[in-house]
Amino acid sequence: MLGRLRGIVQEVEGAKDLQSALDIIVNRVRRALDTQVCSVYLLDNDLSAHVLMASEGLNKEAVGRVSLEVGEGLVGLVAKHAEPINLQDASLHPSYRYLKETGEENFHAFLGVPIIHHRSVLGVLIVQHDERRPFDEGEEAFLITLSAQLAGIIAHAEATDAIEGVSPSGHKTSDTVFPGVSGSSGVAIGQVVVVFPPADLNQIPDRHARDIDKEINFFNTCLNSVREDMREMHHQLAGHVAEEERQLFDVYLRMLDDDALGNEVVERIKLGWWAQGALAYVAKEHIRNFEMMEDEYLRERAVDIKDLCSRVLFYLQEKEPVATEYTEDTILVSEELTPAMLVDVPKGKLNGLISVKGSGSSHVAILARTMGIPTVMGAVDLPYNQLDGRKVIVDGYKGEVISNPLAPLLQRYQNTIKEQDQLIAGLEDLKDIPCVTADDHRVHLWVNTGLMADVMHSLDQGAEGIGLFRTEVPFLLSEQFPSEQEQCDLYREQLEAFAPKLVTMRTLDIGGDKALPYFPIEEANPFLGWRGIRVTLDHPEIFMAQVRAMLRASIGLENLQIMLPMVSNVNEVNSALQLIKRAHRELIQEDLQVQFPPIGVMIELPAAVYQTRALAKLVDFISVGSNDLTQYLLAVDRNNPRVANLYSAFHPAVLHALFQVVRETQEEGKKVSICGEMAGDPGAAVLLVAMGFDILSMNAATLLKVKSVIRSVSLDAAQDLLDQVMQMDDAQMIRSAVDLTLYNAGVDRLLRSSRTH
Ligand code: PEP
Ligand code: MG
Repeated sequence: MLGRLRGIVQEVEGAKDLQSALDIIVNRVRRALDTQVCSVYLLDNDLSAHVLMASEGLNKEAVGRVSLEVGEGLVGLVAKHAEPINLQDASLHPSYRYLKETGEENFHAFLGVPIIHHRSVLGVLIVQHDERRPFDEGEEAFLITLSAQLAGIIAHAEATDAIEGVSPSGHKTSDTVFPGVSGSSGVAIGQVVVVFPPADLNQIPDRHARDIDKEINFFNTCLNSVREDMREMHHQLAGHVAEEERQLFDVYLRMLDDDALGNEVVERIKLGWWAQGALAYVAKEHIRNFEMMEDEYLRERAVDIKDLCSRVLFYLQEKEPVATEYTEDTILVSEELTPAMLVDVPKGKLNGLISVKGSGSSHVAILARTMGIPTVMGAVDLPYNQLDGRKVIVDGYKGEVISNPLAPLLQRYQNTIKEQDQLIAGLEDLKDIPCVTADDHRVHLWVNTGLMADVMHSLDQGAEGIGLFRTEVPFLLSEQFPSEQEQCDLYREQLEAFAPKLVTMRTLDIGGDKALPYFPIEEANPFLGWRGIRVTLDHPEIFMAQVRAMLRASIGLENLQIMLPMVSNVNEVNSALQLIKRAHRELIQEDLQVQFPPIGVMIELPAAVYQTRALAKLVDFISVGSNDLTQYLLAVDRNNPRVANLYSAFHPAVLHALFQVVRETQEEGKKVSICGEMAGDPGAAVLLVAMGFDILSMNAATLLKVKSVIRSVSLDAAQDLLDQVMQMDDAQMIRSAVDLTLYNAGVDRLLRSSRTH
């Protein structure tokens, strides 16, 4: 059964469009279950109906013509309850609705299962036969399993049509919404530029060839280069490897020499495709065909095709690198955005961001917030390869991408952009006045930085210090570990720009979703693996170079603080302290007048929450990293859009942990700050002030909004609110209670533009 399931799924995956996918499904399922009818109804939202999209066994003329209103018939019932219905005689069921055109009166037994994708029912898959007996358990289980596996493929095929402005049943559509999650609030309208990492056949976007003849010649040149490489390797390996291995190159050469692959690519280019896109298309088709083969030997040839085509792709990308052309209103789209992709866009041209992978707490989303760029993350169903050059709306508030927008919708969003700009302009006056609550309690607002540009922007927003300088950001943008001197120059810039205000530099926090291209870490569970201080303690040479650079950079300025990430026990802190002391000693011996800086520990793990007092005893300050703390307390991967709805810093467990950290740090007489994203959420900030945090550190783009809200609420009112929410046991209820307080304080307009969780 498993083999048959896999076969059907693979075949459907290879279908060229939605209709072919559905035709394959009904044909193969009917055969697999040896039944008389198999049909698929899909929901067409524009028509509010389930349309018969494909059938084997019912009258063909009915396909595409017959539909049932939402809730109507057995199809409506399956969809409504999102549960299978298995009947020995469908016509006896009260919901049965006879559809003359289909000729289904001859069939009695009925099994319908819902096709569910991300909790929404896309349609219903049905099998029928003429006997009066229910389908057995095995048949039911088969259909349910298959439907679950097909849902994603169907959703993707529907989305692909929707990009072309076509609904599932072939009607023209517009304002097509692709859901994701909010990465950075705000709205942007612009033209899509798809960016992709090199040497990955799966991520090549569809583009037109500028000059078809030139493109064909270029492709043939690259193909010849691969041929030459193969011959060369074949020759060189003689006598060095087993003859069977050497024969692999013969196989490759034959694949190239019989011209099958090459010809197909050329034919595609003739249709107007650019060479990379044509190659990727043909390669994927061949790989899929081989993967579906029964014969194991042939199945394994898929790997050879992939390898061969990747070699051709390498030449296509290396010989004539295509410079990305950024439009004035670029909406940058990628399967997985990286910080380097963001900073490659020329200044002033980046309007919005869309990433298929990742979620609102991913580091790239944090960077986007720092830069104030509206962003949608986790748009998992977006057929991004086909978006290049299209106009889209990025709704960073709701976390949605809208394609094919019509004039009225565009106008609405343009108005939102105007309001957004006015709101920000209205906050300008707050820059130079202190952050105090309505009853004069002083709160310190600091910023999180990563790039030099953040520093300038932060100073401009009236930041009082840097609570978190993510030192890994320049490491991520570099091609090798920056030297001690390079780091020193970089750190000096930040320290100088902010002096005499304090700058908190975090030691290198790589691992998790922050992989350095030149220091790859391959792990099954990267967030539970080699991350942050665990890496740097295992590589004292990296840690020492960084700390020495920080200390040297601070000479004469004396505004440096050092902070340790991802700490899970006191030994890590003791080891790090020893290394910092050693670096300090070395520099003194080198006759440099270096002051020993205040040291802090980040509380990011549940284990650290319970060790707050022990950790606080060892250092000068504590800073809570609520992004990771939320992830680890709730066991919700901050990068995974599937569980993004479960990620909430308003979860009572998170709030109780934070409150405990504040109390225990203060009992040790040490300062406590928070530098996770929740500090930049105006509603959350009110709770954090009430808890007693000394410093809130946030991205610069939210600083004035937070200041505005804190200035309009009294500490008394904030503490009342905190008392109230600490009794609640549900994140949603807490969020609503906070929103209500802000509404009563008259600052609710700031909520929409700032919410991050
Ligand atoms: C955090 O985890 O809250 C934090 C500030 O660090 P990062 O987001 O860089 O992991
Ligand atoms: Mg962290």
